[in-house]
Amino acid sequence: EFQLLPGDFTGLEAELSPEEKGLISNLRDYLERDVRPVIDAHWEAATFPHEIVQGLAEAGVVGLAFEETRRFENSAVFRGWTALELARVDASVATYIGVQNGLALGAIGLCGSVAQRERWLPALASGEIVGAFGLTEPGSGSDSARGLTTTAERVGDEWVLNGAKRWIGNATFADIVVIWAKDVADGQVKGFVVDTSLPGFTATKIERKVSLRIVQNADITLDGVRVPADAKLEHANSFKDTARVLRKTRAEVAWLATGIAVGAYETALAYAKDRLQFGAPIAARQLIQERLVDALGLITSSITLCVRVSQLDDDDAQRDEHSALAKAVATSNMRQVVALAREVCGGNGIVADYGVGRFFADAEAIYSYEGTREMNTLIVGRSITGHAAFV
Ligand code: FAD
Repeated sequence: EFQLLPGDFTGLEAELSPEEKGLISNLRDYLERDVRPVIDAHWEAATFPHEIVQGLAEAGVVGLAFEETRRFENSAVFRGWTALELARVDASVATYIGVQNGLALGAIGLCGSVAQRERWLPALASGEIVGAFGLTEPGSGSDSARGLTTTAERVGDEWVLNGAKRWIGNATFADIVVIWAKDVADGQVKGFVVDTSLPGFTATKIERKVSLRIVQNADITLDGVRVPADAKLEHANSFKDTARVLRKTRAEVAWLATGIAVGAYETALAYAKDRLQFGAPIAARQLIQERLVDALGLITSSITLCVRVSQLDDDDAQRDEHSALAKAVATSNMRQVVALAREVCGGNGIVADYGVGRFFADAEAIYSYEGTREMNTLIVGRSITGHAAFV
């Protein structure tokens, strides 16, 4: 029987079908059994738990949005909820899936031809191959719509790619990376499925991160990498196409951020009931209850917003500013919740063994990736005022 999430105070799980609840319940069992026990050690060592890749693929959370790979008809609310459930245990594992599923598979699913979808989607969904998504560059983060300097040039039957990418998740061990590059002929941003074993492709791990230590982010260089003509995603012909992918993934990152908040809140609530000070559980103190209630209020507002924005996706009515608002608000709420949860746990809140510290550190990366809070705020600002304040 599916258990109500501690953070789902108003019972929004009612939006899920019995089949969807069943998959989430199985996912939760799997995460508690195979992922939670190994995650702290990987976080400390900054290593990726390759031992869970197959199990994660079998959990069935990759490829749910596309006919080629979904196991049953399902909703965007459900797909978002799987991101929440993953992040509730670990933000890095949720990010790994976010890259594999939303960004790599999503880019090919949304921008690929029928043949490209048939070729790549099943292999990504089954975990046979790992994917990554290369948009950000050393010199262009927030302004990647205009600032990309990586180039693609059509030469005969091939495209030749030159440039550099930064921060690319999964890229140290990915089989393919969707690389976004400017076509020298028309100056438009186009997407290419690049085999990472090709000559001229190198990925170097970014070391010494203090947030999302498990995610393997890389600096990539593309030095005259030659890909066949059919590596270019058929329907990725300008940054508007990149933005179609990001609109959906941003909404899922809002869910992911909410999962981090739920994970931190649950941990703090259990700690508060257990920890005795002045002869009683600290949970019996008004100021501790206030922190827990503040956290629950923030989580409830995030889940409600996430559900609605995903329903808009299900209705084909989701716009960029909807998912931008969800990402900005849910990550702000998350940041407040992890701080409240950290306080409730006192000194133990900064020790990895007690759970909250990892959420606290990981939240910072989520706050900045897939569009910083500022950029997502400005996307909403442009929508409500008609003025683009970021350019
Ligand atoms: P900058 O763009 O340099 O921004 C720095 C600060 O300035 C931010 O606070 C920003 O909000 C602010 N700022 C910038 N412009 C404006 C403006 N006009 N007005 C107001 N404020 C502004 N990218 C990928 O392509 N693939 C990935 O897999 C990937 N994974 C990532 C994983 C992690 C852990 C991280 C940290 C990043 C990842 N990224 C990835 C990159 C991520 O999307 C960028 O970090 C993000 O877009 C911000 O870019 P930046 O870091 O270059 O910051």
